[in-house]
Amino acid sequence: MLDLLIRAGIVVTPEAVGERDVGVQDGKIVAVTSPGTLPADAGRVIDAHGKIVLPGGIEPHAHIAIPVPEAWAGRPEVMTQPPEAASRAAAFGGVTTIIDFAGNLNPPPSVSPSQESIMQVVEGRRNVFRGHAYTDFAFHYILAGQVTPEVIGQIGEAVQEGIASFKIFTTFPGLRVPYGHLWAIFDEVAKHGGIMAVHAEDDDIVTYMTDKLTRERRDQGYNLHLVHNNLSEDLAFRKVIRLARYTEAGVYFVHTTAKEGVAAIAEARDQHLPVYGEALHNYLQFTCEDYKKPDGTAIHTYPAIKFADDRDALQAGLMGGDLCTTATDEYTTYKNIKLSGDTIHTVCGGHNGIETRIPVAFTKFVSQQGMPLQRFAAITSTNAAKILGLYPQKGAIAPGSDADLVLIDPHLRKKITLADLHADSDYSIWEGFSCQGYPVMTILRGKVIVEDGKLLGSSADGRWLKRKVSSDVLARPVV
Ligand SMILES: [Zn+2]
Repeated sequence: MLDLLIRAGIVVTPEAVGERDVGVQDGKIVAVTSPGTLPADAGRVIDAHGKIVLPGGIEPHAHIAIPVPEAWAGRPEVMTQPPEAASRAAAFGGVTTIIDFAGNLNPPPSVSPSQESIMQVVEGRRNVFRGHAYTDFAFHYILAGQVTPEVIGQIGEAVQEGIASFKIFTTFPGLRVPYGHLWAIFDEVAKHGGIMAVHAEDDDIVTYMTDKLTRERRDQGYNLHLVHNNLSEDLAFRKVIRLARYTEAGVYFVHTTAKEGVAAIAEARDQHLPVYGEALHNYLQFTCEDYKKPDGTAIHTYPAIKFADDRDALQAGLMGGDLCTTATDEYTTYKNIKLSGDTIHTVCGGHNGIETRIPVAFTKFVSQQGMPLQRFAAITSTNAAKILGLYPQKGAIAPGSDADLVLIDPHLRKKITLADLHADSDYSIWEGFSCQGYPVMTILRGKVIVEDGKLLGSSADGRWLKRKVSSDVLARPVV
């Protein structure tokens, strides 16, 4: 007997979109068939008529339960929201897997650099999430600063243990990895079959513009896009791509923000390089003009939200295929923290976006621009699963895959209000956004975790996921 039978939904599989039944047993999808052909005596039967059944959303970029820098928060010991709250919000937003980070993003100044090995740091992060997550989870590993040969020597073992992706920054004091070290890291990650996740900005341009605007007393937060600017993205993306070409490394650019970044990625892909780009959903909506509104920097995520033609290039990239994934850079604080700093030095990054990504993207792309449903599944789930080493366990509605599913009611119109959201926060930059289509059920490995606005899952449900990137993804741009 099946544990779960989802009947007659509009099911989006890797092969087709159409009315299908989905059978689930022991947390896995076991059958995707024409309606009415599976035995009806399942443990539970869900009538999905008129609903779109998609692979559970994958959030490829989140920062949960980490210290907020004192320069941003205005006081010490503030943390982003814990995994219970973030994964609960994720589940309500149709997300079943979160990829967060292990490694020091913001080491408190009093703490000396970690002497722990990569896998010891990963184990520490797993302990933060284990028993506290409503969704499955995994971690990119952050390598920061002048990474030592000892740490670089641990990359191979970490890949073996299921850490498939390594995050680096090319700017920010304490985080920036100098290009020599980066060369060594790219080499080692490529050799062992991992992929680089890169925050690419040109440190010289960022530093120069920070100093210039400070000197000219133009360091207000609404000028962030002049610091973290288009030229910086153009130079940094191209330098990283060049390094990737020499080292034969695969690159996943987190938060592409400018038309120049989209163009650099597109050119690399035209040359068959394994280069992939992500866009954040706030960058698909807002422009730097919105920074000037009251509390306008609430929309800010580093690098910086740019101009209307950049926003349009990001949307076109997701529609047309130059960009691969949507993400949020989830970083939830309360409003007083988010708005504590109001200069280019102090504006807090990130927002509580993990719940709104799928409904916002569905509205913008499927409802308003007619994006095919398979493409929508790709940019919210499948591509992240492939690029970051979770496919086909995650990201597909196919026999053998985990039964992670989201049901979207395409006719549901809903204006987002804070009262409807589930993060540990007291503001939303999406307040008033009109959705056409919204998740109504989320299923994790065959268990209904959210149904009609009710939380049915447990924070003990989430499991850590081992990842391995397929060699195709690292050989050429396959998505
Ligand atoms: Zn981030």
